[in-house]
Order: sequence, then C-alpha cells, then structure tokens
Amino acid sequence: MRSHYCGDLRATHIDQEITLCGWVHRRRDHGGVIFLDLRDREGIAQVVFDPDRAESFARADSVRSEYVVKVTGRVRARPAGTENADMGTGQIEVLGYELEILNKADTPPFMLDDYQQIGEDIRLKHRYIDLRRPEMANKLRLRSRISHLIRNYLEEHGFLDIETPILTRATPEGARDYLVPSRTHEGNFFALPQSPQLFKQLLMVSGFDRYYQIARCFRDEDLRADRQPEFTQIDIETSFLSEEDIMAITEGMIRNLFKDLKGIEFGEFPRMPFSEAMSRFGSDKPDLRIPLELVDVADLVAGVEFKVFSGPANDPKGRVAALKVPNGNELSRKQIDDYTKFVGIYGAKGLAYIKVNDISNRETGLQSPIVKHLGEDNAFKIVERVGAQNGDLIFFGADKAKIVNEALGALRIKLGEDMNLYTAEWAPMWVVDFPMFEEEDDGSLHAVHHPFTSPSCSVEELRANPAQALSRAYDMVLNGVELGGGSIRIHRQDMQATIFDLLNISPEEQEEKFGFLLDALRYGAPPHGGLAFGLDRLVMLMTGAKSIREVIAFPKTQSAACLLTDAPGEVSAKQLRELNIRVRTKASEA
Ligand code: ASP
Repeated sequence: MRSHYCGDLRATHIDQEITLCGWVHRRRDHGGVIFLDLRDREGIAQVVFDPDRAESFARADSVRSEYVVKVTGRVRARPAGTENADMGTGQIEVLGYELEILNKADTPPFMLDDYQQIGEDIRLKHRYIDLRRPEMANKLRLRSRISHLIRNYLEEHGFLDIETPILTRATPEGARDYLVPSRTHEGNFFALPQSPQLFKQLLMVSGFDRYYQIARCFRDEDLRADRQPEFTQIDIETSFLSEEDIMAITEGMIRNLFKDLKGIEFGEFPRMPFSEAMSRFGSDKPDLRIPLELVDVADLVAGVEFKVFSGPANDPKGRVAALKVPNGNELSRKQIDDYTKFVGIYGAKGLAYIKVNDISNRETGLQSPIVKHLGEDNAFKIVERVGAQNGDLIFFGADKAKIVNEALGALRIKLGEDMNLYTAEWAPMWVVDFPMFEEEDDGSLHAVHHPFTSPSCSVEELRANPAQALSRAYDMVLNGVELGGGSIRIHRQDMQATIFDLLNISPEEQEEKFGFLLDALRYGAPPHGGLAFGLDRLVMLMTGAKSIREVIAFPKTQSAACLLTDAPGEVSAKQLRELNIRVRTKASEA
C-alpha cells in the first residue's frame, strides 16, 4: 500500500509523489491549513492539506488521533524558518493530495503526542498503544538489531542454533519452577525450564561442539528486583575450550556489539577474583564506574571497648569496613539519616560516620558520635588507612560480613548515583574464582552457581575441604549489572556424584532427578563449558532504559501478572477435571 515509511523521508525525496500509511499522531488546524503528523514504525512525517483539494481537506479535518490512514502526496521542502532540526524528517513536509481513512480509532486511553506521565499499569493494559510511542518502538528495534548481531557473531564462530524443550523437568538454577500439569500422565507435571542448562550439556555429549540459543527461561521468583518470570537468555555451550577461550569469544561478542551499535571501543575487560570484589566493593557484581571502596579496619578496632565495632571485629564471620566519601563533609544530618535508613533495608543496625574537618587538629579535627568510643588514636589510624583528607566523610559497617557487604555495597552505589561520582560511562569486567559453595548457618552447603559447575580442584581435595573450594565459574559484569555467567562443567560422573553428595542430594534423588545426566556422563562426555547472557538486561543497558520491562514487548508486572491479557486466569471445571486437578481455594478451606 505504501511507497515509503514516514520516518524515512528526507530532502532527497523532494518533488517525488509518494504514498504513506500510518497513524495520525497529531492533527493541527492552522487557520485554513490542516497539518497531520503521520506516524509509522520508522518515525513521523508532517503532511499538509490545503483547501484547494476540498474532498481530502474535509477528510483530513475529520480524522482524529490514532486513525489509520493512507496518504498520497508530494514531498516538498518546508518553508524557510519552519524546519525542525530535532526531527529526521524536519527538512521536508508532504503536500497531501489524497487521504483514505483505513480505520477509525476510539479516543486512546492516553495520548501519544504530549508525553505526559502515564501510570505503568495503564501502559501495560494497553501495551499495543504504548508500543506505538516512538521511544518504545526504538527500544524494540534496537533489541532486534542486538539479537541479529549476536546471531551473526555466533554463527560466524561456528555455533549452531539448536532448540531445547519448554516442557521438561526441573533444572536447578535456584528459583521455584513453573509447573504444567500433564493430562496424559495423571498426577504428573512438567516444569518449564529455568534455563536450558542440562540440554545444552547433553548437546555437547552429542558432539555438537558449539551451541547457542536465544532461549526463553522461566523462574518463579519473588519479584523484588527488576526481574521477569519469563526472560530471554543468550545461551551458549562449547566443548574442548578452556575458560580463557570461552571468555575471549563471548567478550568479543559484547565488544563487537558496542562497537557496531554505539561506536564504543571497550579495551580488554579486567578480571577480578570474587574475594577481591567482595572485599573492595562488597558485591560480586561491582560497578567499577564508582571510585568508592570498602577498606577493612577490624584490626584497628578489635581492642576497643565499643562493642558495636569490637564484636564483629572479633567474630570470624564478622566484618568492620570503612567507606571514604570524598567531600562527604557536605552531607547534612538529614542526608546521613536517610542513608542510615537505606542501609537498614540490608539489615544494618546503624551507620556510624566520621567527618574529617581538620586532620592537623588531633583534638577536635574529627567530628563524629563514635570517636569518643574509639579513641582519638584509633580514629586517626582509620583516617590514615582510608587516606581521608579534610572535607571527607567516612562511613562504617560493622556486623556479619554478609550484612556489611550488602549494606556498604549498596550504599556505595547509592552515593555514586546521588553525588554523581561516575568516572566512566561504561565499566565492563569479569568476576572469576567464585567459591563452589555457600555455607548455611546450619553447616549445609549450596551451590553458588549451579551443581553442574566444575570445581578447580580434584574430588579428593573437594571432599577434604568443600567450603574452601573454588569453582571454574565466571560472570561478566557491566556497570554493576550481571550481564552473563557461566562455568566449565563437570564432565566426569564421579565428580558429579561427589557434588550431589556434598549438596546432600541422596543417590535416590540423584537418580530420580538427574539420572539422565549421570547416564550421559558415562557415555563419553567431552570437557565442556559455556555461559548465558541476559538479553533483556543487555538491551536495557544499551538503550539506557530504567527497567527491563521497558525493553520487553509484553512484560509482566512486579506481581507476575499480564495486565493486557489478564493472565494468569481461572480455567474451567472441565479443564481441571481432564488434568485431574482439584483447586483448593481459600474459600473452600474456610
Ligand atoms: N544456566 C546458567 C544460568 O542460567 C548459565 C550457564 O551456566 O550457562 O544462569
């Protein structure tokens, strides 16, 4: 129907007769002439109707926002002084000859042309309208480019795109499963994949050597953070490659993407062991754009009377750390109170601080509610260790290491944002040398990555000291966001059985849940490893979107519902009967 997209028109089209199809973005009546801003997925063009062509003029007068129309006309230069440098099509306009109304539209629930703030619920309920907004369309267009470039890169590097099942068995990635009842196997359930992990490993056993898939994954998590119950991974697995090789290939993929789409050249990504990331940044996904660091001071306060500090300093699971904020002296009492509340979210019971007013004055140079508890000497030793200058402020965390890391780690990010401390626009990196297991308070272990990750030691060493073992896992982090993570896998059955054993998974349960994997490892499994990137997060970072919901066409809400289709919904009694399911509602239990 159309000859051109609205948004593609340029001065080179002047004097051409063209046909456009699209939506009426805006209609303006300028005393005798009617302007229609016509919109399609490529952008907006201005069409002018004048009364000389009475029939189309009258029709143009009758259209309303979001009517779907077809316009034929001639491209001409905008009159001098009326060009719009902010618009791609701002040099030209179309003199409308004919106008056909292809479909009318009710008044939309929100206007697309005035960029008012609209509640997200309304946008999600009418997502098909929301996606007409050029900035939304641009994000999805970039998403499509990103997937395309990733596919090209991986295909060029010998990867095969292979699909894996959606109806499957549980894959342990640490979340709850979405379950699907089986009609044909009474009382049994499929699980939707939390990731294609086990299938991609089986593909390596089959000899495919390099696999990728842009795969949907399903995780029923408490959606506190910016997460979606279904999300997309760029899933990768390879055989006979070391972690170095895998990191090099995938780093190249991300580097190419930023170069092609944003013209940004990343240098080689720095690598940081997990232990260093935790000790310097309190996080396994540090945002290296922010120059603040945690500094341990437990040794300086272990002997003080002040139990708030000396307690954690003498607890093997405790940590006392300082965070120097350059020019933090400017922070008001109220701001410090707000930060105290903020760290409370992470379980911190308070937020001690020292303001450094005058280093040369040993008596009154430090301003702080805690100096008297620490003693001047100790306080000055801390000032010296963190390298504070006059005008700086030092925050403290003293608690279980987990709480200190989470609280000061988050505070570092918040201060970076609030005080705009960024030293770079982009900070990609790898975090390596993760521990194999995390130890619970009751002494039980759980896998830090997933239970198919290879340790970097032998079965014997692992058994002797599991809590100290490191894994061959690696995470790619960009601006404090975990973009991707993976590992070299276990390819030997004895090692896999040892890990299950350490995780307290009984032989019966191993057989029941992962028997097929253990079998496969017996039939010639090659050394293999891979990783998965979160596509939604990658697109979010590359488009500068504030949330992953902005880069997913039809996302779900924080409570995992789809406002557009009203899913999840009830099903008929007949469907439930076929599935042999009886629903226990709160009402029926009462
Ligand atoms: N399956 C892992 C995940 O979804 C990634 C990987 O190990 O490849 O996090």
